[in-house]
Amino acid sequence: MHLVFLGPPACGKGTQSEILVKKYGYHHLSTGDILRKESASGSELGNLLKLTLANGALAPTDLVNKAIKKDIEKYSKNSILFDGYPRKIDQAHFLDDIIAETNGEIRRVFYFDIDVNDLLQRILNRVTCKDCGAVYNLQTNPPKKEGVCDNCASTNFVKRGDDNEAILENRFKYFLEETAPLKEFYQKRGILTVIDASAPLKNVTEQIVNAL
Ligand SMILES: [Zn+2]
Repeated sequence: MHLVFLGPPACGKGTQSEILVKKYGYHHLSTGDILRKESASGSELGNLLKLTLANGALAPTDLVNKAIKKDIEKYSKNSILFDGYPRKIDQAHFLDDIIAETNGEIRRVFYFDIDVNDLLQRILNRVTCKDCGAVYNLQTNPPKKEGVCDNCASTNFVKRGDDNEAILENRFKYFLEETAPLKEFYQKRGILTVIDASAPLKNVTEQIVNAL
């Protein structure tokens, strides 16, 4: 019984994935993690991925799909939480095929609904603890004591360098063109839940848990 999280970059789906994995023991399947793991493994597919990524190209869909398939087959006895996959309609069809082959089922798809301007604010408000790597959002998830890391009590915070507006706009454009249509795809199937992702972190978790 698998779950899928759909949403634009930085909508909070990564954080919610971590919470659900801890709470219910899902296997967390994130495309980025899988590609990194596979290229480091020394397998034939991994070496092919490594070569492609070293040339500066984006991993082609067929390689991504192969890596994803391998992971699904390995963890098909678990409940899997798909975070950031599928990203396009053709990947959604591919996912259907593998899940059918492994006798699984997508139980629910969560669409993280958030306004682009909210999202921009959220990203511009994101800070990381320089000493332990804990991530905060000054707006939605600030440290308990202002300016002090909950984890390690450090007072050194940094803003992420890649969080600039142009990169975000590009990623968001890709999301609207390629990923957002998946909302309708899963809605038609009656397994879609739309989450208000602009709500505070705890409330977003509640919305998800209530729909499970
Ligand atoms: Zn810290």
